[in-house]
Amino acid sequence: MLKRLIIVSNRLPIVISQEQGQWNIEPGAGGLVTALEPLMSRNHGVWIGWPGCGPDAPIDELVARFAAERGYGLKIVPLSDDEVEKYYRGFSNEALWPLCHDLLGNCIFSLENYCSYKDVNRKFAEVTAEASTPDDIVWVHDYQLILCGRYLRQMQATRTLAFFLHIPFPTPDLFRRLPWKRALIEGLLSYDMIGFQTLRDHRNFVHCAATLIKGVEVRSHHRNHTILRYDNRLIKAGHYPISIDFENFVQHAGKNEVAEAAWYLHEHYEHRQLILGIDRLDYTKGIPERFLAFERALEKYPALHQKVSLLQVVVPSRTMVPDYVDLKTQLEQMAGRINGRFAQHGWVPLHYHYRSLDPTQLLAHYRTAEIALVTPLRDGMNLVAKEYCACSVDNKGVLILSKFAGAADQLGKHALLVNPYDLEQTADAIFYAFTMPPEERRRRMALLRAQIKRNDVHRWMETFISALSTIPRETQPGA
Ligand code: UDP
Repeated sequence: MLKRLIIVSNRLPIVISQEQGQWNIEPGAGGLVTALEPLMSRNHGVWIGWPGCGPDAPIDELVARFAAERGYGLKIVPLSDDEVEKYYRGFSNEALWPLCHDLLGNCIFSLENYCSYKDVNRKFAEVTAEASTPDDIVWVHDYQLILCGRYLRQMQATRTLAFFLHIPFPTPDLFRRLPWKRALIEGLLSYDMIGFQTLRDHRNFVHCAATLIKGVEVRSHHRNHTILRYDNRLIKAGHYPISIDFENFVQHAGKNEVAEAAWYLHEHYEHRQLILGIDRLDYTKGIPERFLAFERALEKYPALHQKVSLLQVVVPSRTMVPDYVDLKTQLEQMAGRINGRFAQHGWVPLHYHYRSLDPTQLLAHYRTAEIALVTPLRDGMNLVAKEYCACSVDNKGVLILSKFAGAADQLGKHALLVNPYDLEQTADAIFYAFTMPPEERRRRMALLRAQIKRNDVHRWMETFISALSTIPRETQPGA
């Protein structure tokens, strides 16, 4: 019988809503929840996190109802507005996020924010220590909670401690710039097992640990993990690329309502290939560079005129952070300028929408677009790339993918790989995709889909959990 699982993440995977005075609580959408829920229900796990709702919601009652319905518990870590501002918006999103995405110029390193980050991580550790026992596996998620494991060890809460980083891990040369670099690396070394998205992230971490922290010894290298020794403990660091619930996407993409919505969408752009971009508003997603590459393609290849439209959906995100507000303005101006330059009667080359899509519309967009342009400057994985392939049920889509997305490690062979900073190369890839013969499209997409199907999010979860059960003996709690 597998040990009980305690998941710790910044946000709880729940959506709290109020309809006609009635409060509701539901699990959030997303692959992580789908993959973990069956296991959590089976062994009555606990998910610990910040609910993200206002003070009006009757949270205790909602949480009790959720546990009764879903078979696993929730533990709340309440955060004040000041903590959300400094720990979450400040240190997590203005220091760690840009640093880990190689964008040093966007980093703001504030001691006050870092102190709040430490305090909140300690708070998470306290709630976790109280909600768990030495027999449990505690699995902490993502960059907001790197120090949680360290505080658990300081409290002598000896549990099996695992961590998964969903975003990239930078090179030592970049990581060295962080004033609190050693504390963060030591934080990661407090876990028994640390998972990264790609081999590059895993290697960058091992390199950082070995060069920045005295006493770290690299014991052995294996196919997808490395054993380190530090502070009289063995630590396993490996790469376990996250994925999507492939079958669930296929099933929903095949539904009539999605097929109809896809048909209407394409009717609107008749006789034209649709190039799709879907991203959260984020400077890591390379949207301005993508617009410039599209503009370059229109300059270079007049055959594209009237024949393609770029449909860019930008989902509002982090709207309180100044960099994001500036990006929104920049995108609106660029879209206006490019359309001003190329639009002709009956043809708008760039459709820019700043909004989120409901699930049916999202799948319809994936299903109908002939080309997906997924060109982040850096991305931990990029699930949009995988979701697009899963929904390309007719095998007619072409994926243009950034080399700097984690997904490129698995999809790079059959996607058209580009450097998003290289506008000529991306423009050429757009034209190549536009002219790609149906047979080549089918072959490439079938191979991409087979890859994602084999390595779906359920397999990711099983691989991670089974890697945890083989951590070297010396790393077991109490060692
Ligand atoms: N997504 C969404 N609503 C939308 C558009 C996209 O919820 O209107 C989802 C999409 O299905 C995907 C996620 O947002 O699962 C984006 O994940 P990705 O890894 O591509 O980027 P992230 O936003 O996590 O950096």
